[in-house]
Amino acid sequence: MDSHNKKGSLTGLPRPDSFGRFGKYGGKYVPETLMHALTELETVFHELAHDDDFEKELNGILRDYVGRETPLYFAERLTEHYKRANGEGPHIYLKREDLNHTGAHKINNAVGQALLAKRLGKKRIIAETGAGQHGVATATLLGAEVRAVHSGTATLKDATSEAIRDWVTNVETTHYILGSVAGPHPYPMMVRDFQKVIGKETRKQALEKWGGKPNVLVACVGGGSNAMGLFHEFVEDKDVRLIGVEAAGYGLDSGKHAATLTKGDVGVLHGAMSYLLQDEDGQIIEPHSISAGLDYPGVGPEHSFLKDLGRAEYYSITDQQALEAFKRLSRLEGIIPALETSHALAYLEKLCPTLPNGAKVVLNCSGRGDKDVHTAINHLQV
Ligand SMILES: *Cc1c(COP(=O)(O)O)cnc(C)c1O
Repeated sequence: MDSHNKKGSLTGLPRPDSFGRFGKYGGKYVPETLMHALTELETVFHELAHDDDFEKELNGILRDYVGRETPLYFAERLTEHYKRANGEGPHIYLKREDLNHTGAHKINNAVGQALLAKRLGKKRIIAETGAGQHGVATATLLGAEVRAVHSGTATLKDATSEAIRDWVTNVETTHYILGSVAGPHPYPMMVRDFQKVIGKETRKQALEKWGGKPNVLVACVGGGSNAMGLFHEFVEDKDVRLIGVEAAGYGLDSGKHAATLTKGDVGVLHGAMSYLLQDEDGQIIEPHSISAGLDYPGVGPEHSFLKDLGRAEYYSITDQQALEAFKRLSRLEGIIPALETSHALAYLEKLCPTLPNGAKVVLNCSGRGDKDVHTAINHLQV
């Protein structure tokens, strides 16, 4: 939380305005009962951004408990796989968020918000979870009671709706640890700021390893937190391409996908304005993805903003392509990636042939795939 509001270090671009807007996206579309809690959260978050003790405590936990910094790993055999006949091709590096305790990037944010909850004096914590990674990260810190959500389609959207309902009811005693850069302001900013350590480390490690910056950053996008965590540090470096990869499920024209930025329209969900999968009446279209963490009909407002600006590019990958990439990385590198991450990996198939020789690609390996082995086995029968 270093350059927070420091004059000159950031232009207006990467921070929301005082209404929590990234352009027209974001905002606080919430019941009146939550307004006070959101304002309080924002105030305390801004205070802590200048609090050395908080930063020290957070960094200590990230180092000793989470295991940061995570390596920037040169994936030699994956790089070899993308070499062209003349021996040229890009160099692929993996930012190993899968090596964090609990196996994904989610814990960076969960730790930050748990410390924040202590400062708020809130003793009860709630969290939504889809793939389970955010739930596990939060539960690891605190001990938890798991409540299954049966409403709607019983996916991440419904878990988030239930969590918000609980928060409205218990707001005096409870902090809601939202797991992605979605939801009402200040969550998209706050979660991003707890995740931006990914990009900061990447810049430093790139400088150490090849004395420059990455040329291309690639990350999967569900709500968008691992992507924003990687991108944020480089948003103002116009020579660094930012690529987000969404879930195309059974295909973009199948009606069964989660490609919100590719196929969505602007609307309001879970307290923020952003691109959404919705029908002509504004009703949410149920998304589909083989990876539960990408199976969400919305996306963080800052991604919608970066898309409209043309600053970041967004593409989509089908279930089948993700499964192939899951297999490929496991075989080539001995790293089993999460099915979410596999979407980003699959996009390398399209990206790499277009890149100049020696281009440096950093792909955010957002999580490990132990949780997905059963799903993969069911789909990869030979
Ligand atoms: C939750 C999750 C995602 C998707 O969430 P984002 O907020 O888009 O990062 C991606 N990868 C893994 C491993 C996850 O657990």
